[in-house]
Amino acid sequence: MSVKLTQSETQAALLQLDQAIYNHGKWYDSITRTLICHLPYDRCDVARDAHRQCRFGQWYYGVEPEKLRAHPGFMAIEVEHKKMHELAAQLLQTSASGAVIAPLSFDTFSNTLERLRLEIYTLKRELEDSISNLDSLTGANNRIGMLPKLRELQELVKRNVQPCCIAMMDIDHFKVVNDTYGHTVGDLVLAACARYVMNHFRPYDKLFRYGGEEFLICMQNTDATAAYEVVERVRQGLAATPIECGGKIPLQITMSFGLAMLDPVASVEQSIDRADKAMYAAKTAGRNCTRVWDPLM
Ligand code: GH3
Ligand code: MG
Ligand code: MG
Repeated sequence: MSVKLTQSETQAALLQLDQAIYNHGKWYDSITRTLICHLPYDRCDVARDAHRQCRFGQWYYGVEPEKLRAHPGFMAIEVEHKKMHELAAQLLQTSASGAVIAPLSFDTFSNTLERLRLEIYTLKRELEDSISNLDSLTGANNRIGMLPKLRELQELVKRNVQPCCIAMMDIDHFKVVNDTYGHTVGDLVLAACARYVMNHFRPYDKLFRYGGEEFLICMQNTDATAAYEVVERVRQGLAATPIECGGKIPLQITMSFGLAMLDPVASVEQSIDRADKAMYAAKTAGRNCTRVWDPLM
């Protein structure tokens, strides 16, 4: 399963997470009360699978977070959560036996709880960031995170860890779509194109809305030959797929693509400029095609 969540899936996941955090807080309050007031414990809290029985665990292991399951941040929560319940069970049993809880045992529990909270809030922050960095019309990433992402990938290129290819793409004759069918249909077409591209590139290829009807995708760990193949597959696929836009006759939309490798030495802005030049070469060559940057462009 892909880690990529749509905007609405991310929003739904955030709501669930908020509820799960609230429930976890309630559980903690009740555990503290039981310990401090020396009350009888709840049998669920000392069960071997206490981490599955608590409200947070019921959510975590239930069907609701299906889309989050492959997210590394979500997976990281499991270990700390399970460990925290084991430690809580020990504290409850010690207290119930009338013995005094050793400060070290309590500190270990507190530290694990702290780590669990850090994991949960990191996931929440990551999901919130991914929403605020999305372009609301197309669902692609907006430009805010583009340069930092490219610089990060350029570091890997510099150290020979992995090559990275970027592609600039632009819808062909988009003005005609707007002029013929109106801006609202234009918006639908734009969003549908972005969705098509996002669904047909690989999950880890990041798409940014560069401006207007122009997008940039970075294909990490991809050499020029592989990138060309991927881009051509998407270009041909889009050209062969009529775009539905609000009950009107489906439109045949094409895009032009320009490729450039992320240069280890030149600035990332220069590499973007190269992809842009290659894209204009594709336009000049008649549109609905792909061109690779070369120094003569
Ligand atoms: P080319 O094949 O050379 O790219 O032709 P084009 O008509 O696509 O190119 P041009 O740059 O002349 O026009 C782009 C148009 O895209 C102009 C602008 O009004 C439209 N556009 C940009 N952003 C949006 C948007 O968010 N929604 C809509 N509906 N139109 C947009
Ligand atoms: Mg255009
Ligand atoms: Mg344009």
